[in-house]
Amino acid sequence: NTRLLSGEKRGEDAADSTLRPQLLKEFVGQAQARANLEVFIKAARARGEALDHVLFVGPPGLGKTTLAQIMSREMGVGFRSTSGPVIAKAGDLAAILTNLEERDVLFIDEIHRLAPAVEEILYPAMEDYELDLVIGEGPAARSVKIALPKFTLVGATTRSGLLTTPLRDRFGIPVRLQFYTVEELEKIVVRGARVLGIAIAPDGATEIARRARGTPRIAGRLLRRVRDFALVAEAERIDRKVADRALLALEVDAAGLDAMDRRYLTVIADYYGGGPVGVDTLAAALSEPRDAIEEIVEPFLVQQGFIQRTPRGRMLTATAFRHLGLPEPVVARP
Ligand code: ADP
Repeated sequence: NTRLLSGEKRGEDAADSTLRPQLLKEFVGQAQARANLEVFIKAARARGEALDHVLFVGPPGLGKTTLAQIMSREMGVGFRSTSGPVIAKAGDLAAILTNLEERDVLFIDEIHRLAPAVEEILYPAMEDYELDLVIGEGPAARSVKIALPKFTLVGATTRSGLLTTPLRDRFGIPVRLQFYTVEELEKIVVRGARVLGIAIAPDGATEIARRARGTPRIAGRLLRRVRDFALVAEAERIDRKVADRALLALEVDAAGLDAMDRRYLTVIADYYGGGPVGVDTLAAALSEPRDAIEEIVEPFLVQQGFIQRTPRGRMLTATAFRHLGLPEPVVARP
């Protein structure tokens, strides 16, 4: 994935970890999620028990990993991290589980991508803190139960509908993360600039925040790219003009849309009269996987009111036509 504006993790985001807030009170935004977590953490600490299993749901880059780390720090317990596609065999997960300490947080990113045989291991582990293992093969096979420490599983996924029902039902605390407001992202940009030692004016932070697709990871990435521009342009600090010029050069427009977003909108406008058009048709027309369109491109366009999802397919809104500088079709649309 080479899109500057996708919230997905990439190599250049290695600096992410330096930008991670360490405590719940440093974490900007997601007021509801934060308030709920605070209560659960306090209660678990007071009882001296492991926190109930938590499922974070939301688009990439909104802070799921960060919150999981913060939870372990606030609980004063260890943090182990892995991801669904990385755990190939049931034995791999068994090894991770048996190595946990009492009350540890185990974070599994992309938990919807666990293999079914691996997922089976999780059910008794989550419910009864037990590992059901089958040892040997054929007539000699026998099953053994191994007691596990009481741990907290924190799962992350982009859409809760991707999880199997038995897995989803085993999470006591589902937490949905929202896109951030511009004001929240401004704070995140200013804090990031301070951490990275970058001079930025308030209007520069606003400009980056406005164009970061409601996503902290993208805000951090844009900040680093704009810094490079400022350096080459020998600007003393990032102000609105520097940010605007840099972002336009990076093909991020004033609404925070990139070339992919504009291509998506233009295809619906030009080929399908503004819609409705089915997502499979769009995926084919754009030569992009359907998943990427549904999980990465569309959520922000829906949230910003550029498209509507209807039972008959995607439709452009008046806002989208205005943004593309195109007249709205005059034919009555369904
Ligand atoms: P996810 O796991 O949802 O993909 P991450 O937790 O890895 O997202 O966050 C991506 C980046 O955004 C990290 O650099 C993190 O520091 C930053 N970030 C996320 N949420 C916040 C926040 N609320 N405040 C400050 N920085 C944040």
